Amino acid sequence: MLCVALIAPIPSRAQETSAGKFHVNAQRLQGTLEKLSEFGRNPEGGVTRLGFSETELAAREYVIGLMKQAGLQVRVDPAGNIFGAQAGSDKLPILLFGSHIDSVLHGGNFDGALGSLAAIEVIRALNDGSVKTRHPMEVVIWTNEEGNHFGLTTLGSGVASGELGPEILERKDDQGLTLADWLRRYGQDPAHLTDARIARGTLSAFVELHIEQGPNLEQGKIPIGIVQGIVGLKRWMCVVSGFANHAGTTPMDRRKDALAAASKDVLAVREVVRAEAGRQVGTVGFVKVEPGAVNVIPGRVEFPVELRDLDTAKIDRMWQRVQEKFKRTDAEENVETRCTPLDDVEPANADPSVKGAISDAAKSLGFATVDLPSGAVQDAQKVARIAPMGMIFVPSRDGISHSPKEFTSWQDCANGAEVLYRSMLLLDNRLDSR
Ligand SMILES: [Zn+2]
Repeated sequence: MLCVALIAPIPSRAQETSAGKFHVNAQRLQGTLEKLSEFGRNPEGGVTRLGFSETELAAREYVIGLMKQAGLQVRVDPAGNIFGAQAGSDKLPILLFGSHIDSVLHGGNFDGALGSLAAIEVIRALNDGSVKTRHPMEVVIWTNEEGNHFGLTTLGSGVASGELGPEILERKDDQGLTLADWLRRYGQDPAHLTDARIARGTLSAFVELHIEQGPNLEQGKIPIGIVQGIVGLKRWMCVVSGFANHAGTTPMDRRKDALAAASKDVLAVREVVRAEAGRQVGTVGFVKVEPGAVNVIPGRVEFPVELRDLDTAKIDRMWQRVQEKFKRTDAEENVETRCTPLDDVEPANADPSVKGAISDAAKSLGFATVDLPSGAVQDAQKVARIAPMGMIFVPSRDGISHSPKEFTSWQDCANGAEVLYRSMLLLDNRLDSR
């Protein structure tokens, strides 16, 4: 799976590699990223800039201003997604690229922000070089990707891809405001929400630059990751039924201890996932123990199991083994475990032509690359339903994200932006051939 294309030292100075000058302006990109980080800045560093908040609204105004300065035609769709368009010379489907500017609670300065501002920087670089494209180019800022507000992740791209519809409008936040209320605050008419849907064929491709949010690139000292796809996930809720009884008077061999059994189950999940080769992950995120008293044997335990991988068949295979282990525990511990499906999200594969363009763009700069999955949810996952997509990853220091400690060096930011610039031009050249 590891395919290192070309080992080249990372250039020490921004804007220069052995393969020539950068087209994007690293300092200008840094300047806009620093400015954006002022919107919702926390005392401990990083930002809290939730989708649908006064803070985000102000940040959107800033970004819209940048788009206009870059000569883009700006429009906002009824889901609040911001588009900045530049005409192409031919009548062709749109080449779309961008990311999101909302954050989680106490998030960092790079997640989403880099891909959004790098997309605008690419347009500025095209203008600087008077480069004309065949395709219309559009920068997109998707609404409420993180979904901390309203509990709906990838809201904007979800609506655009047709996955979400008017059923979300009456969702209330903890202030009692509905999503429809917030859309009105954002100047939109919620009655027209589904007008934000993008029909298949409208887009030639979608490309997103993003921080890796994991440790692989930094660990391998590889500047550019080519995303194979966004992993799918399946979740189940499991209930272990034992018997709650007196902790002092029930002999050890007569117990039906649901927590002792669940403890074996938690470790069984880890064992099964670790036994397979690859980058799959499996997690038990919490346990709820009943009755939860110091002097009562636990009679009932509830816990979720989550498995993620790019390959659905592998997820199913691991789940089969997990269930076999649970059955063995049931027999050993004299309890009964039942699991019911909770979530099922299909993996989204990146398009070979987009991956090829990203790979060639990185090669032209002499950058080593590695193919890797995205374990995190992304807007590109939703867009994959309506258009070919691909993602470029750059390193995250210590693999930390969704934290004030989230950091990507300015050089890595510039590298990613330049790979994005070159990828967009390669796609403009290669897709929808004359
Ligand atoms: Zn993100």
